[in-house]
Amino acid sequence: MPAPLRSPLDVRVWRHVNRRANSDHWLWRGHFNNWGVAMVGIARIDWETFNLRQQFGSRIAEGRLGKLPVARVLWGLLRGRVPFNQLVVRTCTSARCVNPHHHRLGLRQNVQNELIKRDRKKRGEQHPRAALTESDVLAILHSYRADGASQYRLAKDYGVAISTIFNITHGETWNHVTKLPRLNYNNNYVKQRARVSKPPTVRFRD
Ligand SMILES: [Zn+2]
Repeated sequence: MPAPLRSPLDVRVWRHVNRRANSDHWLWRGHFNNWGVAMVGIARIDWETFNLRQQFGSRIAEGRLGKLPVARVLWGLLRGRVPFNQLVVRTCTSARCVNPHHHRLGLRQNVQNELIKRDRKKRGEQHPRAALTESDVLAILHSYRADGASQYRLAKDYGVAISTIFNITHGETWNHVTKLPRLNYNNNYVKQRARVSKPPTVRFRD
């Protein structure tokens, strides 16, 4: 078991980045996740020092460990609170830059729409974790449709999960390659759960 982290979040962040002029890139020397986002680990001490939810809009459950994007933390430290529902989006061209003055706040849906419009959203093979190529995907679709191959068989052959095959053959993923329409899920299940979790209002008679 690693030794517990003793220094608070801000100290640990500044250990991996130099604060320079606002116009300069501040290059992160710490950890990047699989999507290339600079991340910093949350330690127990941070829950005593900061209100992680209020200041950084963290979604980590109270008192638990996890990771936060460094851009979020630096925005919260230097520029003000990061709302829960907003992303901190980089506006400069340096992939390792965490300077909050080179970032802006944006709603998740707006940001995704902008990325799609600029064709910058990573999809298919561009995605760093993609296990399949476009020709794999077309071959899978063909085997499934024309040859009647089972999803189980295809998953085995391509070394991916059955859900990956399902998502391809039902247009949930790779639909920019397969041109399939997405499945139209209705949200009844989610709505029902929301209804159940709402406590009933109890009225007493005088
Ligand atoms: Zn920058």
